[in-house]
Amino acid sequence: MKTFFNLIQDVRKQGKCHHCGGCVTFCSAINYGALKTGEDGRPDFADIEKCIECGICHMICPETGDDHEIRKEAGWTAPGGRTIGTSVARAGDLIIRERGTDGGVVTALLLHLFDTKKINGAVVSRNMDSGRTPWLATSREEIIDASGSHFDSSHGMARFGEAYSTFSPSVKALAEIRKEGLEKIAFVGTPCQINTIRRMQALGVVPADSIVLCLGLFCSGNYTMTKESFKPLEQDYNFDYHDIEKMNIKENVILRLTTGELREIPINALDPAKRTACRYCGDFSAEFADISFGGIGADDGWTTVITRTDLGHALFTQASEKALELYSYKQNPNYATQAEAMVLSASSAKKRVAKKNRKDLESGPVTVIS
Ligand SMILES: Cc1cc2nc3c(=O)[nH]c(=O)nc-3n(C[C@H](O)[C@H](O)[C@H](O)COP(=O)(O)OP(=O)(O)OC[C@H]3O[C@@H](n4cnc5c(N)ncnc54)[C@H](O)[C@@H]3O)c2cc1C
Ligand code: SF4
Ligand code: SF4
Ligand code: SF4
Repeated sequence: MKTFFNLIQDVRKQGKCHHCGGCVTFCSAINYGALKTGEDGRPDFADIEKCIECGICHMICPETGDDHEIRKEAGWTAPGGRTIGTSVARAGDLIIRERGTDGGVVTALLLHLFDTKKINGAVVSRNMDSGRTPWLATSREEIIDASGSHFDSSHGMARFGEAYSTFSPSVKALAEIRKEGLEKIAFVGTPCQINTIRRMQALGVVPADSIVLCLGLFCSGNYTMTKESFKPLEQDYNFDYHDIEKMNIKENVILRLTTGELREIPINALDPAKRTACRYCGDFSAEFADISFGGIGADDGWTTVITRTDLGHALFTQASEKALELYSYKQNPNYATQAEAMVLSASSAKKRVAKKNRKDLESGPVTVIS
């Protein structure tokens, strides 16, 4: 039976651990207590003597084995996962729309599900000084408070101190669900986080049994941003790191400065700040989510939405009538099809790069990451 010991050897030491927190969350939720999360976010043994070698942490790690079981469960099809429908939408409520990263659709949908009692909470991620932090929101106000993405500060980067991470280890907030005794929770997260939740659900293990809906965010990578990592870009794109007020990732990275000016930077230019594990990840569009969301393919202020499961499609269709505004396709009937093509193209590019990086890792000199 492979255990956390193997995760250290095969995943963590090779730099492939994305700090999703799935292994620690399960081991803690079932009270084995063998694992902990270190200060740097990586999983570790808390007490090796408590490990009963159940092997579940190994099975739910997105970096182990293949996705056969969850693919079967999701009805996954090539090239980019099951797609029932692709739309471009935005929140009906102007305030939600303005707070949103793109069209505020994730927040508007969560609020609609909360108001209609389909969920009694949502794992979201709110902005704190050190970066996005997982949060179990159990009221309308808390869901709204967590809207938006990456950093968004009227005071620019100065607010965040030395380093800012765009990654939020949201799976860890599942521990709160058990404490609060909640049962109908929506989870918002990156494709790797959705992957570990689907693996937990396929095995029927806690705490993923309380998740009724997985909302996936498109993801080209997560970044640890420091003044140092932005130095080469400051000169090329004429901005000061401390003046960055808002960052959004669509086809490119869009920086809004405190002066109101925009800077558009190719995503690859941020590669030096990308987390190591993200280099090996081939899921761009959250292929195992109930519904996936991103800005790519949509005009500013709109969100591209892919419904992937019957449940996700039904809930999105209901919300579209009450809480969302769908893009009027009269001007361009091919708009959603074009958005879908852009998502597929970004997905294929990410899979290609991940495959190459994995091959290089396997054939190159061994670099051990502690
Ligand atoms: C790390 C990251 C990388 C992304 N990369 C791309 C990309 O390359 N291309 C692209 O088109 N789209 C990308 N997205 C998705 C995009 O930024 C928007 O999140 C998406 O379009 C939804 O926008 P919205 O206005 O509808 O959502 P909103 O209504 O603004 O809601 C966003 C929700 O996401 C939650 N959230 C915010 N940050 C995080 C985080 N770090 N981890 C987990 N949950 C979070 C918030 O709490 C909120 O519930 C990325 C998102 C993230 C978090
Ligand atoms: S008890 Fe199970 S889940 Fe916890 S570390 Fe050991 S093998 Fe992993
Ligand atoms: S990727 Fe997630 S499940 Fe795998 S070792 Fe890292 S934190 Fe644990
Ligand atoms: S690129 Fe992959 S591993 Fe990195 S945060 Fe996004 S989904 Fe997770």
